[in-house]
Amino acid sequence: MEYIDFDDNPSNEQIAESRIDLEMVEAAVKQILGAVGEDPDRDGLKRTPERIARMYAELLAGYTMDPGKLVNDALFDVKYDEMVIVRDIEFYSLCEHHMLPFIGRVHVAYIPNGKVIGLSKIPRIVDMYSRRLQVQERMTRQIADFIRDLLDPQGVAVVVEAMHLCMSMRGVQKHNARMTTSAMHGAFRSNAPTRQEFLDNISRGSTPLQV
Ligand SMILES: [Zn+2]
Repeated sequence: MEYIDFDDNPSNEQIAESRIDLEMVEAAVKQILGAVGEDPDRDGLKRTPERIARMYAELLAGYTMDPGKLVNDALFDVKYDEMVIVRDIEFYSLCEHHMLPFIGRVHVAYIPNGKVIGLSKIPRIVDMYSRRLQVQERMTRQIADFIRDLLDPQGVAVVVEAMHLCMSMRGVQKHNARMTTSAMHGAFRSNAPTRQEFLDNISRGSTPLQV
């Protein structure tokens, strides 16, 4: 069996950048382990609090990502005014009600108004808002608002499809429940054919969300 070192990530640099108080998380996780009747000192669990603390530095890195740095050098003045669509951006987030993952994909579209952003930056924007404790509705809106404020485009639209483990693993145990949220600004809100063009595009050839 291949040995996998789960402790590789995140890097020390990533940890330094996050504002996570590692010691405090460690102490709290140790307490939870005790509280659920586990022995925090048994072999398999001994380093779990430390791993979890480091893991949060990665999963919650979005709080300390610098938006200025993120879009740095990637804004371009162009005379292009057709719809730009980036679809199927995968994301991993944690729901703020249970701190369990919700996972899925994000589709983003905008119609430029003299300014565009490098395509590779859009997934980074998604990361900035997904790597936090979130609710899907707010994450959707934050991504749309950020792009609106950044580019002042003729319109921006964001659709998020996700599966929430807090629904699959517990409670109602709806294993196949998917949630879809959207946020629209400008032309996508006021102009039905524009909105429809985007919605048609993201549904074309799309496979059911699998996680
Ligand atoms: Zn939840």
